[in-house]
Parts: sequence; structure tokens; C-alpha cells
Amino acid sequence: MKQLFTLFLFIVTITCFSQKKYPKNYFRNPLEIPTIFAGTFGELRSNHFHSGVDIKTQGKEGLKIFAAADGYVSRIKVAQFGFGKALYITHSNGFTTVYAHLSKYAGEIEEYVKSIQYKKENYQTGNIFLKEGKFPVKKGELVAFSGDTGGSGGPHLHFEIRDTKTENIINPMFLALHLQIPNRLQYNRFWYIL
Ligand SMILES: [Zn+2]
Repeated sequence: MKQLFTLFLFIVTITCFSQKKYPKNYFRNPLEIPTIFAGTFGELRSNHFHSGVDIKTQGKEGLKIFAAADGYVSRIKVAQFGFGKALYITHSNGFTTVYAHLSKYAGEIEEYVKSIQYKKENYQTGNIFLKEGKFPVKKGELVAFSGDTGGSGGPHLHFEIRDTKTENIINPMFLALHLQIPNRLQYNRFWYIL
């Protein structure tokens, strides 16, 4: 009984804590299609734990990717392996969202990346860290297009929410799991909880 009570207290604490940390409606769905997860957080992969969620893109590439919240593009990396073409957006609430396996970036960001590739004479750019004023974005602004670049086994969007300071990856399913969503692999209202 005592253990049950401790567990109860633990759940209440975690719930209160997470509600403070994740203001409702802060993040939106980075895609404009219903969210269907192909992979979930913490899954065991061949040599690592999966660090985000994989969102299905209807088997297609080139779907519009929108900024999950207001912020600025803080990092870009183009690599042959791993995340492929990746984009990082830092938000004022202390979190950074990560979008990976992209086919290309949108507008000015794409132009900027191309100029760096030409300058380096290399497809791979390494980490490009950007200052706050370079590419500020609004929630819902088009930032990239989905793809299948890097270590990706088919078109999808790999999405992460990280703590900006510590780089610790937050499980975006956290609240959804707490609310006992019946089917956690397919939950369209997921983004309204976050
Ligand atoms: Zn992934």
C-alpha cells in the first residue's frame, strides 16, 4: 500500500512538473498531415536508442515541414549518413526542435546551405551554427521539405525536442503516454497536448 501511495505521488509530481514544462499548444505538428508514428522514442536500434519520433510522410518525399513554434534556425547540418539534411530550431521556452532526413530546405535557408556547399566544394557541410538574427522563424512557417536523406530506411520525418542548454532529448510522447492514449502509435491530437 505504501509503495502504491509512493507511486501515486510520483505520478502526480511528474504530471504537475510536465504540465509546467510543456505549455499546452506550444508546439504544432511540423507536418500538415495527421501524425502517424513509424517509430517511437527510446526504441532499441542496432547500436543506439532511438532519440526522437519518426513521423510517417505517406511514403512520399517533399512534404512541407513547418516550424513547430516561434524561434530561430540555430543549426544546420548536411551529412551523407546519420540525420542526412537536418535543421534545428531554438525556441524561447528553453527547447530546441530537430527535423531530420529532409530533402531540402526552404527559400533563403536552401540558398544559404547551397552557398556553403559550393564554398566548401562538398555536399557535407558539417555543423553550421547560426546566430539568432540570421533566420528567425514563426510558428507554422515553411522551413524545409521532408525526405529520405542520411541513414533513413524510407521517407519520413525524424523529429526531436531537446533541452537547449543540456542537449538532453525530451520524450515528445511523454504527456501523451501520461494521458493514457489508447493507441500511442497513431494519435492525431498529440500536438495539442504538447
Ligand atoms: Zn528517427
